[in-house]
Amino acid sequence: MYSNREKKAAKKAQTAQVERHSTLKYPYRLNFYDVPPIDDITLEEFETCALDRLRVLAEIESSFARNRSYEDLKTVTLAQCDKYLPLHSSTAKSVDRDAERRKDHVGHFVLRLAFCRSEDLRKRFVKAELALFKVRYDNDDTAEREAFLSSRKFDWTPVPDEEVKLYSQQLAAAATAWSRDPNAAPPEKYFKIKWTRVTDLVSSRKVFLKGGFAYVPLRDQASMVFAEYAANLEKALERTARELPKLDEDSRIVPILDHLSQGFLAGVSSEWSSSSAATDGNQITADMIDDLARRHFPACMRNLHECLRRDKHLKHFGRLQYGLFLKVLGLSIDEAIAFWRRSFSNIQEDKFNKEYKYNIRHSYGLEGRRANYSAKSCQQILLADQPGSQDNHGCPYRHFAPDNLQTALLSMYSSQGLTAADLPEIMATVKAGHYHVACTRVFEITHAALGVKKGDGIGGGESVTHPNQYAARSRELEKAKLDALKTDADGDVTMG
Ligand code: SF4
Repeated sequence: MYSNREKKAAKKAQTAQVERHSTLKYPYRLNFYDVPPIDDITLEEFETCALDRLRVLAEIESSFARNRSYEDLKTVTLAQCDKYLPLHSSTAKSVDRDAERRKDHVGHFVLRLAFCRSEDLRKRFVKAELALFKVRYDNDDTAEREAFLSSRKFDWTPVPDEEVKLYSQQLAAAATAWSRDPNAAPPEKYFKIKWTRVTDLVSSRKVFLKGGFAYVPLRDQASMVFAEYAANLEKALERTARELPKLDEDSRIVPILDHLSQGFLAGVSSEWSSSSAATDGNQITADMIDDLARRHFPACMRNLHECLRRDKHLKHFGRLQYGLFLKVLGLSIDEAIAFWRRSFSNIQEDKFNKEYKYNIRHSYGLEGRRANYSAKSCQQILLADQPGSQDNHGCPYRHFAPDNLQTALLSMYSSQGLTAADLPEIMATVKAGHYHVACTRVFEITHAALGVKKGDGIGGGESVTHPNQYAARSRELEKAKLDALKTDADGDVTMG
């Protein structure tokens, strides 16, 4: 990907950094990602580092779609980072800090390749990466952050004392314009920076402007750091976009990049396969499905279930989407055959055995190449096998016309607390293309009675990324509530 000269320069820069600051290969948790990774990277590492980072960024993007406050975004982001992208402080013992930082480094650069390919993707990537950087910057140990800042040569000019005196009135006016305390003394140290680099400070009138420069007080240093980070990343992405055509011939990497760049559309889900249901004792029977659908299924599966009951049939992609979902939910092969047989009540036994039974057994890995097929994630449902007008598969939030979606949501979920008053917010999210965020909001509303609040998502603020995750969480919440009621009742009996 890089020429020998670039590799040599990168190596030299990295070595210099290491020698200057510590024995760690990555001396700081914070990173401006100036230098690409130069070690060998396996294809698997290439993908997993990027996917884990994308899990964090996709949740940040969902937070924007949900208009979360910065504090809420920070809480959700830190929780995601703990799960997928932990970065311990330099003083942490018993963790491989370099390995964590390398993963952060590699993931960032792989995602640059995936997200540099259009202006829209570049913008979204910079916005999400900047938010991640801000959260980490705020959360960093003060001494480590200071050390990181002094390791960089920022393009800011300290304003000489005479100039501060000369413009003291204007500087004081800018300072008091936003200070909560009108009697507070204006700051004494300032830096000059091109105003276009700190547009947030300019638009909130927090700085004095002169000759195209903003005079930024030292205490607003963070704004300058963030502006610098974003500017660097924007430029780097444009450079990467120009270089990218060279990669087009690499048939291993391009499909991975295509897949990654879709991560903002529906988040990044973990794989849900039948093994997860089998091990947690969640086996279900054909008789339970009507009831489960009514209480726990997301709109895509609820719609397929209702169409199956209405038409006594589902077309191929509908059967595939719903069948794998039910398998992972815990429906055994015998129960699955019983379920589909009874559901296709207009079809003769002979035809069912010939045309459908094989496919059901195939999806359970009992025929053909005997693969253990995973259930489809939101991303797959949203993007692959687009439904035609006669089909029922897909995601209602994306594939239904707005009027039909509103009618369907009310009919599916009004018994669980969804009302017409909730629809404008949900439809606005759908209109902006954040389908899984709309689904997450519906989850919150329909599980409010089980203690879920707005912003909780399916737990810890996380968004829905997989229909099985939706159903599993819904069942878990219900079980927790029933267990709590049972404990209360047992307590009452004992007390009595
Ligand atoms: Fe199903 Fe995902 Fe669409 Fe929700 S967002 S309806 S879980 S595909």
